[in-house]
Amino acid sequence: MSKVRPRSYYLRSFGCQMNEHDSERIAGLLEEMGFAPTAAPEDADLLVYNTCSIREKADTRLAGHLGTARRLKREKPSRLVVVAGCLAQSRRDEFFVDFPFVDVLVGPQSLHELPSLLEERLSDGVRVGAFAETTTRWSAELPRVKMSGPCAWVQVVAGCSNFCTYCIVPSVRGPEASRSAANIMAEVVALADRGVREITLLGQNVNAYGREPSFAGTESFADLLRTACRVRGIERIRFMTSHPKDMSHGLVDVIAAPNQVCEHVHLPVQSGSDRILGAMNRRYDRAAYVDLVGRLHRSVPDLALTTDLIVGFPGETEEDFQETLSLVEECRFDGAFTFIYSPRRGTAAAAMPGRPEADVAEDRMTRLVEVVQRLGRERNEAMIGRTVEVMVERASKHAAGEVMGRTRGHKPVNFPSAAAPGDLVLVELLEATSTSFRGWEAR
Ligand code: SAM
Ligand code: SF4
Repeated sequence: MSKVRPRSYYLRSFGCQMNEHDSERIAGLLEEMGFAPTAAPEDADLLVYNTCSIREKADTRLAGHLGTARRLKREKPSRLVVVAGCLAQSRRDEFFVDFPFVDVLVGPQSLHELPSLLEERLSDGVRVGAFAETTTRWSAELPRVKMSGPCAWVQVVAGCSNFCTYCIVPSVRGPEASRSAANIMAEVVALADRGVREITLLGQNVNAYGREPSFAGTESFADLLRTACRVRGIERIRFMTSHPKDMSHGLVDVIAAPNQVCEHVHLPVQSGSDRILGAMNRRYDRAAYVDLVGRLHRSVPDLALTTDLIVGFPGETEEDFQETLSLVEECRFDGAFTFIYSPRRGTAAAAMPGRPEADVAEDRMTRLVEVVQRLGRERNEAMIGRTVEVMVERASKHAAGEVMGRTRGHKPVNFPSAAAPGDLVLVELLEATSTSFRGWEAR
């Protein structure tokens, strides 16, 4: 093992917001150790991949990147390769065998150990890993390199205890653990002091905040939102993800109240068929979901509602799929993330029979996406001519002199403006697609 100390790092993140947020912490830890970031893997002494294992596609994408890492390490053997995150955790037993050029493996609950693991690798030359089963140290307490812009993520719950039968998250991120409200608020105040204007409270199931027996506090998620509304400088508050079974009346009231909490709820339904919802262990049925959506729309007139949907779950028939389509029509979602079911080792659904053939699942996906896009376009076209508040996030990537911002419903709007990131601007909406708008500043 070379004793040349690495100085620069390349970090590539895969997967959900939680992972992106963990990547901010990985960058913070590395920069505290004296590493400087580089944009190209060829320029880096240290290559870090923060992985996702939610679907097989994520594994395949990583494999391509690891091919590059292997080549770069061959060219310069002193280079170090770190694989962090959910895949490192779920594949810990075979990773070093399958990818012998990887130096350090670190699971999502062990990120704080990365500096000592790197030191160990450099001094002893042994390949090392850390894979805590539960959160021992809040990633929020680690140094952070925040993504640029006026928005920031704030983790409020780690892990998940729901065990939806298709999902690997509970086994790679451990059981639900809520962070103390005081600790969360201290971070929100510090972010506001640094110029952050919008926060997104993050957790796999934020609605369950504070409900685990070991939680020392007394606050509910609705209480947390109300407290965050008192932080000066924070203009907008978002949260994700909400599990339908845990959405309380108190939470709906906080979203409905005139405050900084935005009128957007991401409420994954997964399927419209009660039989499939039961097999997924989602613990609500279609009627309860539709009832909740009705309550949300009645209480929050300008609500933007988005969801996650899975097709091709084991046992899903054409009739079950038709129920998903009819549910989507009934709920008139503003948008949806759509997924083809991907079996994950160790989950209950992986052993279930009756998985639809790949071409059947793909055909259902195509038909579902058509409905989702049509409804999104209709919902957005109905907003044309309205003047809405937009928070500017950055300069447009497409046109000079334009900026990109978002409505309170989280929809992107591109418009000509000299406004700076973080500014709140009134914008008249002129044109719509299924997912975004063009507009101009209202005068
Ligand atoms: N905790 C959130 C929830 O329950 O809604 C989201 C967790 S997951 C990161 C995001 C989405 O990925 C899920 O809502 C689900 O639609 C999808 N997903 C999870 N596991 C999957 C699998 N094995 N195959 C296909 N989609 C999956
Ligand atoms: Fe996975 Fe279900 Fe937990 Fe979401 S609620 S992270 S889908 S187990």
